[in-house]
Amino acid sequence: MIVTFAHMGNLWIVVKTILEDLGVEVVVPPRPSRKSLDLGVRHSPEFACFPLKLNIGDFIGGLERGAEAVVMVGGVGPCRLGHYAQVQEQILRDLGYRCEMIVLEPPRGRLAELLAKVRYLTGNKPLGRVWRAVRFGLEKLSALDTLDQALARARPLERRPGRVEDVHRRAVEAVAGAADVRAVRRAAAEGVRAIEGCVTPEAAGDGAAVLRVGLVGEIYMVEEPFANQELERRLGRLGVEVRRAVYLSDWVRTHLLPNPFRLRRRCRASLVRRAAAPYLGHFVGGEGLVSVGESVLLSREGYDGVIHVAPFTCMPEIVASSLLPEVSRDLGVPVMSLFLDEHTAEAGLVTRLEAFVDLLARRRAALGAGVRPPAARGTAGAGT
Ligand code: SF4
Repeated sequence: MIVTFAHMGNLWIVVKTILEDLGVEVVVPPRPSRKSLDLGVRHSPEFACFPLKLNIGDFIGGLERGAEAVVMVGGVGPCRLGHYAQVQEQILRDLGYRCEMIVLEPPRGRLAELLAKVRYLTGNKPLGRVWRAVRFGLEKLSALDTLDQALARARPLERRPGRVEDVHRRAVEAVAGAADVRAVRRAAAEGVRAIEGCVTPEAAGDGAAVLRVGLVGEIYMVEEPFANQELERRLGRLGVEVRRAVYLSDWVRTHLLPNPFRLRRRCRASLVRRAAAPYLGHFVGGEGLVSVGESVLLSREGYDGVIHVAPFTCMPEIVASSLLPEVSRDLGVPVMSLFLDEHTAEAGLVTRLEAFVDLLARRRAALGAGVRPPAARGTAGAGT
């Protein structure tokens, strides 16, 4: 059985690693692009979630390259994620694809159910073998998150614009190609050193003057640069260090692993719930609750501002965005919500980002704190 799946940031590297390690033949679809988006938009209901449309484009790309089955992560309500898999399967059937859909549902502590599907997928490999492959995949995922965090710190301070992106890409390739845990760790450590080497010592001394923004929102939009129109790169060019509220390794540990393996994340999760409680006291689907709780935590941690990103019509994030102005007022932290879809124009997004960063810089200056001068920063549109 030849398997394909959808992209979401660096997740493809991990899925490919795990499946190939278990002897499954994999077809990686082309990276999300205007072409795959157009395909997804053409074949999906108009008001389907933006990530669903991009996933359909990816699945078609994989199936056209010879895949016989599609693997996807399922979800639970109350939002549309609860029937995402069925809608996607029907769309592919209507298009004439006779593929198998294998949906890996969040186990909510029931690892056996998830592993049973993984075993089916891998031709009944022993669970110990499956677990070894998953652990190796998670090692790569943590390494990739570490590289992304190093990139986010270096971007606003790099000596030659764009160089750090190349260095980061090579480091990601090294991690992707690493054959064992030791090689993964070595590639990650060398990658972080190379990324840090792109920053001049004088600029590194400027670190405290860099504006810091927290990125919260729907997980796909936070993680997939094509979907969020390269938000992190644009903000980096504007001299801003971006920290995602949730990195992929956190998300996988929270949603796909049983409790004993995600203790650290659970601590953060309960902090997030407590922080959100004055504004939102229950789960509303997706990352709605996390967006509110993390916005509170990030502002307490001294971030200059919060950017909230979500797909147009995303129910959980609409709930979050209606509460974030109150968070902003109470904690005095600027928050900007961006709802994006296939119609979002680059010029409008660039203007909003530049205005928001300008506001953050003025606010920091008004508070009497150091901030890098505009001349040391670039524009949100450059080189993307
Ligand atoms: S979280 Fe938002 S984008 Fe994701 S399935 Fe639910 S409604 Fe759609």
